[in-house]
Amino acid sequence: MHVFEDFNSTREYSVKARNSGRWVGLVPTMGFLHDGHKSLIQKARQETDPLVVSIFVNPAQFGKGEDYHVYPRDIERDIRVLKDLAVDVLFLPTVLAMYPDEYSTFVEVERLSDVLCGAFRPGHFRGVATVVLKLFNVVLPHKAYFGLKDVQQLVVVRKMVNDLNLPVEIVGVPTVRAFDGLALSSRNAYLTPDERKDAARIYQALSKAKALIEAGERDASDIKEMIQEYIAQAPGFSVEYVSICSFQNLQELSSITGEVVIAVAARLGKARLIDNIIVG
Ligand code: AMP
Repeated sequence: MHVFEDFNSTREYSVKARNSGRWVGLVPTMGFLHDGHKSLIQKARQETDPLVVSIFVNPAQFGKGEDYHVYPRDIERDIRVLKDLAVDVLFLPTVLAMYPDEYSTFVEVERLSDVLCGAFRPGHFRGVATVVLKLFNVVLPHKAYFGLKDVQQLVVVRKMVNDLNLPVEIVGVPTVRAFDGLALSSRNAYLTPDERKDAARIYQALSKAKALIEAGERDASDIKEMIQEYIAQAPGFSVEYVSICSFQNLQELSSITGEVVIAVAARLGKARLIDNIIVG
């Protein structure tokens, strides 16, 4: 596996592959890899060659007072994981190379960035869209893979690709969960053992919501109330939002028709947990 820090080596590698008719894949990550990341990498491995994985904890997507400085990192272990998965290139840019002094260009995906997590993390999706576009411009992938766990990120990136006519196909990959349903996340490392047990409530609430909808419930506010109450039964949980919205444009829905996303964000101890399911 090649490990490239600089942009030129990465782009040259990719250009060579493209010129010989190969299909370049990219899986962007912030590292501290778990089975959720592995599932993206395995799907990408099947569909693309060469496969590039990036690890970059992107300061532009963290707000003031958020966990940028304590975000879990273990690059040695990540390199072993990526080698085992037969990844061709690890792209490992430095913060200074990504954002040199006086850096001043950012991508705003309007409306989609202000709802759900965007309402609680101002500037987050501006940072995400910017870094993803920069990664695309360096890696030049034909296909890029994103997890449905971060559904708003997927919708924002798709919109950016569409609006800016970027020649890359965005692939969404289903959420990988622990034995009790908790969506895998690098941030689960912040949970104490007791909090870790309670954390499963988020997926339990989402599953109850799905069952209600399958039984004919159509009123979004009744379902949201049930989810909120179920999660809040565990002391220590503080729910940021429960949303039932369109998968296409994230607009809040009052009644359930078609393909809807049920999304939750909640704080538990030091962790901010998000999860969602798509119904219909
Ligand atoms: P992160 O390192 O948290 O920025 O995540 C990198 C990519 O992995 C993103 O596209 C995430 O949506 C995806 N991802 C993270 N957790 C999971 C999971 N549990 N299942 C599937 N994809 C995930």
